[in-house]
Amino acid sequence: MHIARSSLSAALMATSVRAFSPAASSSFRSSAAISNLSSRTFSSTTSLNANVLKLTEPAKDLLPDVDVFIFDCDGVIWRGDSVIEGIPETLEKLRALGKKMYFVTNNSTKSRKGYKKKFDSLGLDVPAEEIFSSSFAAAAYLEQTNFKESGKKVYVVGEIGIQEELDLIGVPHFGGPEDGGKQPDMGPGGALPHDSDVGAVIVGFDRNINYYKIQYAQLCINENPGCEFIATNTDAVTHLTDAQEWAGNGSMVGAIKGCTGQEPTVVGKPSPLMIDYLCSKLGLDKGRICMVGDRLDTDILFGTDNGLKSLLVLSGVTTEEKLLSQENTITPDYYADSIVDFFVDENAKVEASA
Ligand SMILES: [Mg+2]
Repeated sequence: MHIARSSLSAALMATSVRAFSPAASSSFRSSAAISNLSSRTFSSTTSLNANVLKLTEPAKDLLPDVDVFIFDCDGVIWRGDSVIEGIPETLEKLRALGKKMYFVTNNSTKSRKGYKKKFDSLGLDVPAEEIFSSSFAAAAYLEQTNFKESGKKVYVVGEIGIQEELDLIGVPHFGGPEDGGKQPDMGPGGALPHDSDVGAVIVGFDRNINYYKIQYAQLCINENPGCEFIATNTDAVTHLTDAQEWAGNGSMVGAIKGCTGQEPTVVGKPSPLMIDYLCSKLGLDKGRICMVGDRLDTDILFGTDNGLKSLLVLSGVTTEEKLLSQENTITPDYYADSIVDFFVDENAKVEASA
């Protein structure tokens, strides 16, 4: 898998490259381990595993060291279409403390505008500038690599979120929902003509993927010289409903990998593109950012690989048993039942005085 390295972030390489090197990564883990060790020694933070600590004193162990929280959305802020209990009040308390926050999701089916509507519908007062989706990341990658100047078009395997973001940067595109019902001519001598001006295929989660789209993407990537293969993310499973796990964008990306032999450029988590974008646009210090998510292989990896602090919440897909199991090799600095626990000591005081 290529990890997206934009020209914009290339300009930052001098300062950011160390954060992505294995050596820097292990040294970050070492210093985190040391800090965990000191937490175990000098505070009452509970150790449930050699490397993972449950957050019990956030006012001492977390909040003073973090200026910016990056929140994954599904499983952290909401589950499906319901906001998780206590989240609006928790976000308000964090803002009152002067903490900045950003909401980063690998789900590409909506644009930032679409997510803003979702936040509004859940009664969450979040400005559009704080929302980052992988549909936006795909457009940001094209913008940073000056794709528009090439005069080429994008073929989309995915939903409306990607198209809305491409419209905002003025890059021509086709495919997506409009190809949902199409079938190529597969009779004798049948062929699917394709546009030789397609310079990139973006693959995002697509509930209406079909053989036409796979064949079209295959032709563009295999036959158009220099055509890029961009994946919004490669999540194995997603949570369309809370009744079961559903095949995620990894399955759509896998289909295109299978017929092209190409590895995609991945722009969503755990790729560094979004964090590089945030740090360069907003001048953030990585060492004072905490990534908060419910998935180990995207959210927490995104944090640890990019030199951020990381915290896993159990309000989504990862169980405490899985987190603490011997098979798990991805270790957050802390974990908590939900971000409501960021004020657990304050809540405890209220309970004690009640
Ligand atoms: Mg999640």
